[in-house]
Amino acid sequence: MTIIHLRNSLKRKKERFIPLDPENVRMYLCGPTVYDRAHLGNARNVIMFDVLFRLMRRVYGSSKVTYVRNITDIDDKINQRVKSSGRDIRAITDETASWYLEDMASLGNLDPTHTPRATQYIDEMIEMIADLIAKGHAYEAKGHVLFSVKSYDKYGCLSGRSVEDMIAGARVEVAPYKRDPMDFVLWKPSSPDIIGWNSQWGRGRPGWHIECSAMSYALLGPSFDIHGGGNDLQFPHHENEIAQSCCAYPDSEFANVWMHNEMLQVEGKKMSKSLGNFFTVRDLLDEGYSGEVIRFVFLSTHYSKPMDWTEAKAVEAEKILRKWRKMTDSSFASEEVSQVVLNAVADDLNTVSAMVELHAIAARGDSDQLKASASLLGLLGDDMGNWARRIDLSYWENKLSEARQTALQSKDFTKLDHLKSVYISAGLDVRMSKTGVELVPTAGFDIGKLDDIE
Ligand SMILES: [Zn+2]
Repeated sequence: MTIIHLRNSLKRKKERFIPLDPENVRMYLCGPTVYDRAHLGNARNVIMFDVLFRLMRRVYGSSKVTYVRNITDIDDKINQRVKSSGRDIRAITDETASWYLEDMASLGNLDPTHTPRATQYIDEMIEMIADLIAKGHAYEAKGHVLFSVKSYDKYGCLSGRSVEDMIAGARVEVAPYKRDPMDFVLWKPSSPDIIGWNSQWGRGRPGWHIECSAMSYALLGPSFDIHGGGNDLQFPHHENEIAQSCCAYPDSEFANVWMHNEMLQVEGKKMSKSLGNFFTVRDLLDEGYSGEVIRFVFLSTHYSKPMDWTEAKAVEAEKILRKWRKMTDSSFASEEVSQVVLNAVADDLNTVSAMVELHAIAARGDSDQLKASASLLGLLGDDMGNWARRIDLSYWENKLSEARQTALQSKDFTKLDHLKSVYISAGLDVRMSKTGVELVPTAGFDIGKLDDIE
């Protein structure tokens, strides 16, 4: 059996992965808050966890892995959107959630086993909060319920910081009803114009952190294998999830392995609205980048390193994928995944090494193994390849061949050079060799620009 190693943020080291139950490997990823299109950075841990899901399914069996990715459909950012748009909350969250699922599917991600929405688990959250109060880990104050951080002596175990450091480093809201500045909200009151549910503490809504504790418990049980998210969630979100779950179920460990991915940059800069380099997955898809190309670029950087999205990388990814797709067009993924690729992915999701090996397999011309091995990374699947077949450039390639013939005979290269320059400005990579010509569209390819040629 393939041995899997994963870097566990909780232990700050890479360790051998041994599932609690090999008949049911369980993983949980914190999903999106649905009020707007997913930005490109949101896709990173989804792709990372998708590769993890594919790895676990291959190693333990496809029916023996349970993957939960939640949807946060109750949050103050959503409430603000309701106010500013005048739209119904459910209309906003339904629409945004469906956009999200569509966008993640276009990037070649498999559907998780469960995609629970927070609003479907309000009863479970209320139950857990009441239990935390009963056990002395939470208290009610002015319609709020707060978690008492001092009641859990392992608080800070994930981020490795002391409570004092966290107070100093975090912008903690010091509300008068808090016994301690680090205490965080489990339940808060809702004014009549805001969505709310009835509870023993009055009409209100849950704080953010409790939903993941309640949903993971409901779908995966008190202890499960892997929990993940962006490293920006490590504190306070994941730290708070651990505190809630371990205090509610003191005999359990909650998640055994914690995995966190680094953030995304664009052309070397942090993605932000003020820098004008903020874009969504949909923006890129609409610009003509295929989901598979975007995925390829993501996989070319290890999840634990900051990832830089650049146009040059996308152009290069598209060239390689076109070549691989051409090679594997009539291949069947009948062969086994290459052991080298499998071992690379099993080594803390080393997708970078796995891609190097895919290149080597392609260089050997082993198209069946290329297709089979790429599937472990979610690449070269039959359902994702339409983009590569979309444009038939044979007409333009023939035109260029003819122009070359004529030029060679007449020794007048003006027309040929003109044709080449139009192709290049339309975004085509022009490759001419003794055996023929090949036109390879780059990410910025605009077929409309070829219409100028008579
Ligand atoms: Zn979460």
